[in-house]
Parts: sequence; structure tokens; C-alpha cells
Amino acid sequence: MLNQELKNQLAQLLDLMEGDVVFKLSTGSDESSQKMEDLVNEVSDMSSRITVEKADLKRSPSFSVNRPGEDTGVTFAGVPLGHEFNSFVLALLQVSGRAPKEEQSVIDQIKAIDKPLNFETYISLTCQKCPDVVQALNLMSVLNPNITHTMIDGATFKEEAEDIMAVPSIFLNGEQFGSGRMTVTDILSALGQGPDASEFEGKEIFDVLVVGGGPASASSAIYAARKGLRTGIVADRIGGQVNDTQDIENLISVKKTTGTSLAVNLEEHINEYNIDVMKGVRAESVNKTDESIDLTLDNGAVLHTKTLIVSTGARWRQLGVPGEQELANKGVAYCPHCDGPLFEDKHVAVVGGGNSGVEAAIDLAGICKSVTLLEFGAEMRADQVLQERLNSLSNTTVITNAATKEITGDERVTGLTYEDTQSKEQQHIELDGVFVQIGLSPNTEWLGDTVNRNRMGEIEVDRLGATNVPGIFAAGDCTDQRYKQIIISMGSGATAALSAFDYLIRN
Ligand SMILES: Cc1cc2nc3c(=O)[nH]c(=O)nc-3n(C[C@H](O)[C@H](O)[C@H](O)COP(=O)(O)OP(=O)(O)OC[C@H]3O[C@@H](n4cnc5c(N)ncnc54)[C@H](O)[C@@H]3O)c2cc1C
Repeated sequence: MLNQELKNQLAQLLDLMEGDVVFKLSTGSDESSQKMEDLVNEVSDMSSRITVEKADLKRSPSFSVNRPGEDTGVTFAGVPLGHEFNSFVLALLQVSGRAPKEEQSVIDQIKAIDKPLNFETYISLTCQKCPDVVQALNLMSVLNPNITHTMIDGATFKEEAEDIMAVPSIFLNGEQFGSGRMTVTDILSALGQGPDASEFEGKEIFDVLVVGGGPASASSAIYAARKGLRTGIVADRIGGQVNDTQDIENLISVKKTTGTSLAVNLEEHINEYNIDVMKGVRAESVNKTDESIDLTLDNGAVLHTKTLIVSTGARWRQLGVPGEQELANKGVAYCPHCDGPLFEDKHVAVVGGGNSGVEAAIDLAGICKSVTLLEFGAEMRADQVLQERLNSLSNTTVITNAATKEITGDERVTGLTYEDTQSKEQQHIELDGVFVQIGLSPNTEWLGDTVNRNRMGEIEVDRLGATNVPGIFAAGDCTDQRYKQIIISMGSGATAALSAFDYLIRN
């Protein structure tokens, strides 16, 4: 089941176990059960600290990871290979007593939860965002006996997961709780357990306060801290869009990395410096007085700073047509890498004929029965090489001059209506899913009219990253800089921090 290289790595990790662990295994006679038994037995054979017991769990095949005589509530329904293998090993180590790397304040927030929370997360083994959620909820489950978490592989439990159209899909006590990548901090904040305003009371005025947690923010904060400035970061999560990215091959000097690794590296680099990182909170408004710039957070806290760098990035742009919001996660999707496998042998459309739309269509053509790409203009805007690749595939169709008018469906997507912009005729296609790939919207609504923004909502900055308000700078995808890329965001973050430094020594 495991190749020799993986076994060697695993053997080293199993040496780190601090106590005994019991796998409770519930299997039948099907192929997935056999695979699960093979995996569990192979791993238990590698350590005398692990024993396996037969059990009757809610789902079969599944197994739970427990301490002797004490159920932790961590369960894997489906074989945790692929991207979930790390989640399995991590759960094993944490259940054995290995201390998590989370900050003590976060561990305390988890332990303080005093009501029963039973989480279930539907995943696919090819989803790169899923392990973060699985690992976060497993950790919460290990640390708090009131919390349980079951990872459910949609491919193993096809019938149960029939209505799940986006992974990870998280349920709490039977109700939809969240979807997409969530860290422990995100989950605590969604549970109303995020940092309390009192934790921020009495903070001294900052020299530089950075809002956002993506590459631009990391770079701004590091540059500011390296100038010896009193620096803080306010972010709902660290990593930004990088968290939603699969492979990255254009961060110059790093030949290839993944979004998840880069997000971890950004956080580690930030933590090398004396930077006050305030995670799990969002900036809600900003106000400039004669004394300071005041930033109000969503937990009610108000922070004061001499300069502010806004680097709140961007999110997937929505079509804004009827059906899109109502059917989100019920067939309307934005991330082909994550959700593509849920549309195996189904008919899908991709809206958008730029590079990301055409790449998505090519990717989906390998999984889905048919892919229809809808482009608003008369021609696709993607690179020629991508268009040629798309056109060479037998199960793809391209429709140009198509303005999407509605996504139809009740409980799940059943089709899409578009208008032919030339003939003005409405057409309808029957579909199981729609992937929206029409670019990004800046996360700048919270600024109101404090700083000048263009008609797309992007913050207008000069070449030094300065906005029209003295002392307020901006960087990255939330600004009107033409190109939106990691390396460009990092560069503009550095520029904004150096400009803030310059401003501080002159004012
Ligand atoms: C699927 C995908 C693939 C990509 N692939 C590549 C690639 O291969 N190479 C490349 O160079 N670029 C790639 N990009 C683009 C790249 O990720 C972005 O250009 C880059 O992340 C922008 O960085 P940023 O710091 O400006 O903003 P973001 O990464 O968007 O980060 C902004 C952060 O601020 C937070 N935030 C927002 N509002 C608030 C608030 N009010 N309070 C607190 N925090 C807030 C957000 O949650 C987020 O964490 C990709 C993007 C996507 C979506």
C-alpha cells in the first residue's frame, strides 16, 4: 500500500509518538474496506505503540484514532491517502500526545469551547485546501472532548455526498457550517470564539499597521519591521489567495512550490520579526484624525497607527446573475482544481475565456463528460497555445458572444441561460455545474470613501504606493496596479513599507 520512500519517512515520524494509540476500524468486504484495512495494518505494524480494534462506527469503511480507553472523536471515513495522508499522520502524532505548534492563546480558545460540536467534512483526495480544514478540525477534536470530527471522502461515500458540489464542505451538528480553506483561527472566528476586543485594548500606537494577510502584507510588514518600526498586521488569515492556489512556478528563484507551502513560508518569515500579528479579525473601517489613523475591527477593537498599509487583496469575481448565489456550492463553483473531481462524468460550463477560464476548461475536460466554455466577447482572450490545446479536445465546445443571464436549478444546478449578444436570442444549456472564471474583485468595500478608488473599486495609488490620504498606503491586488501576481504584490508591499518609513521620518 505504501511505497518504500513513504514508509521510510513514516518510520521517522512514528518515532516521534509520545504515547499509545488505538485505531478503531469499521470495515466491510468492499474494495475500499480492504484498502483501509491494508493501510491501518501496515501503519500499526510499524510501531509497537499502535493497536487495531474492530468497531462498529457510523460509517463503513472508517476508522477512528484514539488514546487507550479514551475516544478522541477523530475519524477518517475513506482511506486518507493523497493529500490527506499528512492529516492522518498528524492526527496520529497529536493523539499520541505530541504538542501542536499552535500558539497557546489559540489552544486556550479551543479548550474553552464548552458545547458539543460534531463536525463532518466532505473532501476529495485531490483537493489541496482540504487537508488544512481536516487538520484544523482534527486538532480541535484532539484538544477538546466536546468536539468530534469526521473526514468523509466523497469518492468513497458517493451516495451520501451526492449533493456536495464543492470541497471542502464542512457541516456542524448536521448543518452546513463552511466551505473552502479554513484554518483553526477561521473556524474559531466563525464559531464566535475569535480574539476578544479586550485582547487588543491598550496597545500602543503603531508606526505601521498593515491590513491583510497575503504576499503584499507579508512583504510590507517585514520591510517595515526591518526598519525598526513598531509594526502590526491585522488579517483574517495569513496567505491570502495563495491559499487557494495549487502550483506556483513563477516566484522567481523558487522553481516550483505550492500555495499551501508558500502560505506557511510567509507566516514563518513574518514570525521571524518583531511584528504584532493579529489574526482572525477583519478591519471594518478607517478614520484619520489629527493625532492618528484609527482602524476599527470586526470585534469592536480600535487600533491606532501613524501610517496604514492596505493590502486586502481580491476575491473571485461573481457574475451577479440570478441563481449564482443561491446555487453556490450546489453546482456553482470557482475553483476547478478543488471542485473538479466532484463533477466526474458530468456536463459543466466554464464562464470566461481568459487564461484561467481556458486552463480550467482543459483541466475539467479530463474529468467531466463535456465542457462548454462561454466567452462574452467575439474571441477568447487566452494565450494562443491554450486555445489550441482546448480546441484539440473532443469533449469541449466554445461559445463566443455569450452573455450569461441566469444559472438555473432548484436544489442544484440544472442549466445556464445565456444571450447571444449578436442575435439577442436567449439560449439554454442543460448542465450539472458552472465554473465561474471571470477575474477578481478587490476587497476594498470596507474603506467606504476614505481613499480614492477607481470604478472597479481598486485603490488608486501612485508609484510609491501612496493613496490620496497622507499616511495611508496600499499594495497588491487591492490597488489599481495593472498586473496581479505574487511577485508584483510582494514588490509593491516593499515599496509601500519604504514609503511609509520615508513619510514617518518627514512628518
Ligand atoms: C487560483 C489562483 C491561482 C493563482 N496563481 C498564481 C501564480 O501561479 N503565480 C502568481 O504570481 N500569482 C498567482 N495568483 C495571483 C496571486 O495569488 C495574487 O496576485 C496575490 O496573492 C495577491 O496578493 P495580495 O497580498 O495583494 O492579496 P491576497 O493574496 O488577496 O491577500 C489579501 C488578504 O487580506 C485579507 N483581507 C481582506 N479583507 C480584509 C479585511 N477587511 N481585514 C483583514 N484582512 C482582510 C484576505 O482575506 C487575504 O488574506 C493566483 C491567484 C489565484 C486565485
